[in-house]
Amino acid sequence: MGLLSLGTPLHWNEAKGYADHVRKHGIEQFLHIYNYQKDRQTQQLLWGDEIEYIVVKFNDEEKTTKLSLRAFDILEKLEKPEHDWLVGIEKEPPAALWRPEYGRYMIEGTPGLPYGATFRDLVGVEDNMKLRRKMAHAAMDPDEHAVSLVNYPRLGCPNQLYPDHEPNGPACQSMFVPDQIINPHARFPTLTANIRRRRGSKVQINMPIFHDVNTPKPFIDPTIPWDRDLFKHDKEAKEGAALPDHIYMDAMAFGMGCCCLQITFQACNIDEGRRLYDQLAPVAPLMMALSANSPIYRGYLADVDARWNVISASVDDRTPEERGLKPLKDSKYVINKSRYDSIDSYLSNDSTYKSKYDDIDLVYDQDIYQKLRDSGVDDKLAKHVAHLFIRDPLVIFKELLNVDDSQSSDHFENLQSTNWQTMRFKPPPPNSSIGWRVEFRSMEVQISDFENAAYSVFIVLLTRVILSFGLNFYIPISKVDANMQTAHKRDAVLNEKFYFRKNVFTSRTPTGNAQPNPESVQDEDAYELMTLNEIVNGKENGFPGFVPLIHSYLNSTNIDIETRCKLSSYLSLISKRASGELMTGAAYLRQFVQNHPAYKKDSVVSDEITYDLVKRADQIAKGEYHPKELLGDFNA
Ligand code: ADP
Ligand code: MG
Ligand code: MG
Ligand code: MG
Ligand code: MG
Repeated sequence: MGLLSLGTPLHWNEAKGYADHVRKHGIEQFLHIYNYQKDRQTQQLLWGDEIEYIVVKFNDEEKTTKLSLRAFDILEKLEKPEHDWLVGIEKEPPAALWRPEYGRYMIEGTPGLPYGATFRDLVGVEDNMKLRRKMAHAAMDPDEHAVSLVNYPRLGCPNQLYPDHEPNGPACQSMFVPDQIINPHARFPTLTANIRRRRGSKVQINMPIFHDVNTPKPFIDPTIPWDRDLFKHDKEAKEGAALPDHIYMDAMAFGMGCCCLQITFQACNIDEGRRLYDQLAPVAPLMMALSANSPIYRGYLADVDARWNVISASVDDRTPEERGLKPLKDSKYVINKSRYDSIDSYLSNDSTYKSKYDDIDLVYDQDIYQKLRDSGVDDKLAKHVAHLFIRDPLVIFKELLNVDDSQSSDHFENLQSTNWQTMRFKPPPPNSSIGWRVEFRSMEVQISDFENAAYSVFIVLLTRVILSFGLNFYIPISKVDANMQTAHKRDAVLNEKFYFRKNVFTSRTPTGNAQPNPESVQDEDAYELMTLNEIVNGKENGFPGFVPLIHSYLNSTNIDIETRCKLSSYLSLISKRASGELMTGAAYLRQFVQNHPAYKKDSVVSDEITYDLVKRADQIAKGEYHPKELLGDFNA
């Protein structure tokens, strides 16, 4: 979750008075980093993945599962090798780093050190992921397991937690989950409560329910305590927050409690980072659809396969004015999106960039923009930062209000790390040897490490192909947004089409050249709706496809046969997911529920089904069960 500082977090009523202070110093801190690091060159690619897990407790006699809220006890053990290394007791760096996440039932693991740029490094990823899973198990009670499902199917249903608690906490005020589900570090309950306070109501999450033959229509959820009268916000559900035919959720945990697979790359310099940011932005929705793995929420089958909109709504702190529901009076802007959403603007000054691609009316702080421009920051980067800074800092620690802006990036990170977008442009931390990085954030975590490695390696190879072939994936950014919504749809891989650029080999002409004729420009920038199969595997007389492009890149390199075979198996998984030959995790989980003998065709994912499903996911991850429809013949 980025920055974790200690101190006394301020209630929203007090925090909002310091918002401008944090923004002002955040910009000073950004400028300090920018001025010192803008010319920085790093030679080699470094990159790393982040995998989040849920901790599940199995009772194999009763055939029940519970979400274990013991992540902090577990993390203490997992983080020890890192601490020992940092203080010099241990000479070798740890094999993995472990971090807390939003949910008290979540852990996040990354490689101990970032991976390098060799093909051997790529082959080591899966082993490291498997090792992490073993380490996690070793730090847990024997009946606990680290499961890489995006979410726990019955999160928010009664009796799902260990230890159990009633849903009556003041921070989230949820009718479904208790505050004990939140990471106990002061930052997280405060973030939760301040989002609600700033917004003026509880967060409101509605995902369409999957209507099966016995699902009532309209579906009015009988499990919502419609008449609860514990908090003033309780009446919201029946006053319209809970939509019919939807799975209603009312707390940040439903979203921020979801597990993602994220990849961070270090670029050679700031310009390459900005270019990768732009080129990967249109890829983000495509990869979400290809990695879709979350068809169940709060005990019901949903009519979507992916999590993004749940998380987006789960942290939507916009005031009614910002959401455009009331005329602007106290708020400064109408804001089109939640803080957790797809990016609104491109970032590169690359010669293939054209301003027409930025067809979303960007909301940004004019004063901050001007300040950045006056300090020598170019238009696009200034707009990017001024856009992040339209948000208020949600958690402010009293003790950390005044810091040395040349030494700290706390205030910058306060805004930066709570703009949770599909892409994140990460400046170097102050006084570090780390370079400019880009994070790819849209993918859903996969059940097995073979899959997680395949998706990670695929993205790394794609970045190499983009850079060495000079590919151009630009389409209007509003079309990227449209793709993001399409990507949620049930079986989007099989049934939907996505906007994608027709000609990705556009020449990179230096600006100032003679104008080509307008018709060929028109043509050159054309995009069309394509299936994921066409985008990944190629289209006859059209786009060659990601996987064939990666193969031709690999053909041009010196790579041993064993490594090539491993990489080919990863590419083949992605290719077969895109063609429909193999199922996505979401399709597999949905089918698992629908084929379960206890399923009543009423969309309900019961305790019994949940036990079998989570157990199955764990068995798949450990190689004890091999579903061919999900993994094919690959050795997972
Ligand atoms: P966050 O949660 O803020 O996204 P994390 O520290 O959890 O960040 O994960 C960052 C990822 O970036 C890890 O996989 C890590 O290995 C990787 N990483 C660390 N240093 C570098 C670097 N210099 N360049 C690229 N990736 C890095
Ligand atoms: Mg995380
Ligand atoms: Mg992280
Ligand atoms: Mg993070
Ligand atoms: Mg991350």
